[in-house]
Amino acid sequence: MLGKEIPVFTPKRKVWHIVIVLAVFTLAAISSGANDVASSIVDSQTFLKKNMTPAGPPASASAAAVEKLLGQMTLKEKIGQMTQLDIGMVTDGMDQSIRINSEKLHKAVAEYGVGSILNVHDQALSVEKWHEIIRAIQEEAKKTRLHVPVLYGIDTIHGPNYIVGSTLFPQPLAMAATWNPELMLRGSQIAAAETRKAGIPWVFSPVLDAGRQPLWPRLWETLGEDTYLATVMGVATVRGYEGSDLSSPASVSASLKHYVGYSYPTNGGDRSPALIPENTLREYFLPTFAAALKAGAHTVMVNSSEVNGIPGHANGYLLKDVLRGELGLQGFVVSDWVDIKKLVGVHHIAANEKEATRIAVLAGIDMSMVPSDYSFSNLLLELAQEGKVPTSRIDEAVRRILTVKYQLGLFDDPLRGMDSKTVIGSPESRQVSLEAARESITLLKNENHTLPLAKTAHVLVTGPDADSLISLNNGWSYTWQGDRASAYPKDRATILKAIQEKIGAANVTYVPGATYSKEIDIAKAAEAASKADAVVICLGEWAYAETPGNIPDLTLPDAQLDLARKIMETKKPVILMLTEGRPRIISRIADPAGAIVMAYNPSNEGGQAIADVLFGDVNPSGKLPVTYPRSTNRLFAYDHKVFEGEDSGEGKMLSTPQFEFGSGLSYTSFSYSDLHAAPATASASQTVRVDVTVKNSGGRAGKEVVQLYLSERFASVTPPWKRLKRFAKVLLQPGESRQVSFELTSDDLSFIGADNKRVVEPGVFDVRVGGLQQSFEWK
Ligand code: BGC
Repeated sequence: MLGKEIPVFTPKRKVWHIVIVLAVFTLAAISSGANDVASSIVDSQTFLKKNMTPAGPPASASAAAVEKLLGQMTLKEKIGQMTQLDIGMVTDGMDQSIRINSEKLHKAVAEYGVGSILNVHDQALSVEKWHEIIRAIQEEAKKTRLHVPVLYGIDTIHGPNYIVGSTLFPQPLAMAATWNPELMLRGSQIAAAETRKAGIPWVFSPVLDAGRQPLWPRLWETLGEDTYLATVMGVATVRGYEGSDLSSPASVSASLKHYVGYSYPTNGGDRSPALIPENTLREYFLPTFAAALKAGAHTVMVNSSEVNGIPGHANGYLLKDVLRGELGLQGFVVSDWVDIKKLVGVHHIAANEKEATRIAVLAGIDMSMVPSDYSFSNLLLELAQEGKVPTSRIDEAVRRILTVKYQLGLFDDPLRGMDSKTVIGSPESRQVSLEAARESITLLKNENHTLPLAKTAHVLVTGPDADSLISLNNGWSYTWQGDRASAYPKDRATILKAIQEKIGAANVTYVPGATYSKEIDIAKAAEAASKADAVVICLGEWAYAETPGNIPDLTLPDAQLDLARKIMETKKPVILMLTEGRPRIISRIADPAGAIVMAYNPSNEGGQAIADVLFGDVNPSGKLPVTYPRSTNRLFAYDHKVFEGEDSGEGKMLSTPQFEFGSGLSYTSFSYSDLHAAPATASASQTVRVDVTVKNSGGRAGKEVVQLYLSERFASVTPPWKRLKRFAKVLLQPGESRQVSFELTSDDLSFIGADNKRVVEPGVFDVRVGGLQQSFEWK
């Protein structure tokens, strides 16, 4: 299948301030860079404080040059800048045999003056190939009257997944499971440098849509269901991409997506309508974007679908009043794939594409990802000539686009980065990816110390995810769907290979058992299980991205459940090893399992990371960034309303999640004591200090994520039962204990009221950390 095909029948696819006192451990640790990747503590608020500085150079530095250029441009040249085309519009062929078609290129860049090109066709390219293509494009741009460079954009989703040999990282949901923003920052820096090395200065990432609908096939592209965790990790991503200077050969511009409400489709399907009251939108969905914009993000991509009946691309209130007016976006807004056209054929709010173009541009779309024809340019030219779109609006959009091009240094050197010293996929970068995979793996159940397994054990490995790099990676991996085995590196270990390397092939039996949805040889797997000391059943999902990943049922397919049940009949110790982009329901096989391990999509180093955890070389420290549901009809996030979890009778069991948000076990144990919140009564400008002591009470070193949750007992809008406000990931040696201190201000106590404005209401607040609870009063 060609990369981005467009099926005809369906869319292709305050005022109060938050202050927290850093966790106070030792002054020495702080002064020696306590937040390094390998440091003993990474706390969320120190991280945010340190990393909210936007990248230079500021827009003002190029303002005069931009105005001068704008003054020289014809209407057609300006509209060209607002046009983004797919790579197929300037090339022939595909995959590695792709080559520039000079006639097509001339038409796009010289005749239409397009401002931007995107995508691959349809597989990752070598750096050399990228250089050949980007050079040709920029040379063509140089020949034009005003020499405006083209802005190339790419989906670097988990590392530069469209560059052969690049460092791929765990998918964003797995990165969120590390609860380690320093790792996210480091990974994003590597991704930026490697992307720019290919000559590409713009990435369509991060996904800041709150992952609160587990059916949604893009859940694994999100940073989880919690607004605060996603905010911290989102800022880390943006700062890693954009660095301190956007024009540096190691920086790329981020594109925050998909603004806003895309991730909460009522029916769970990709590009399906969402109904989100404005106070809910402001409470749960906007803050990630607000923080990433404060951290300097330069561009924003729009929600392909609709919220409350208004398509994202037609929502002037959200795009202008909120995104620019309130959240302060300075850069430009790009549409998503074909989305202006979809205002006609999908959303039915415009009778023809010309009307759709007028609506979208007036609503605030600065650049259209057209992407496969010149309709947008032609229609917008007509609209401007007819006075239906004012030229001032076109100037505004082009000014923003040109400014970002200046900030990226493209006018000085459109090929910047190509000759940088960055090494694509270096061993050091792969090591960071391995660390991230290790820190993301989440041990959900471990009865009777089923794990870690002894290296002398004879192990049966079975299940559809056992011997596949594809399931370790998921979509946006070498191809859009990530499902082309031949594109994957030959030298990375699947789970099976990594286990064989760890304990010797002679100690491992492999029987596939089942594919994702069909039995292969379950009886043979059960027979082999009866002869093994332990069984690692690798279950989960195959690769998918966007709409092709829609499912009608979150339950793990029968064939996989049958495989697990048959093996469990042997009463051998069973480890359910889950590699999946969303939490597929496993309630029918969870109870008999000795251990359950969630690996999300840990990418190419994930096989090794999994084997390291299974055999105890790494002590797991990941925590769920989403609630793991127990049943398909009770899907809710951890910060649900108080009464939502209160069914009685049979419903009670079904409504509690299989595993809670924020949960995750370790091979050591941690105990909490001395939780204090002071003063007992506070008001307005005061802060509340929360102290807690966490101790490694087990026998080996391990990392714990200290999580501070807050809840208000009574509020004018029914309060959630708790919300995450702070976290700190702490490394503790056996027997070691540390006091962690947080400080909360009135902003942490605030919520969005019925009038859609942030408010703090006096009352009693409960603080929960590690099973302890304290309260204080706010006056
Ligand atoms: C996706 C975006 C992506 C764009 C460009 C769209 O279909 O929704 O997330 O950035 O394609 O590939």
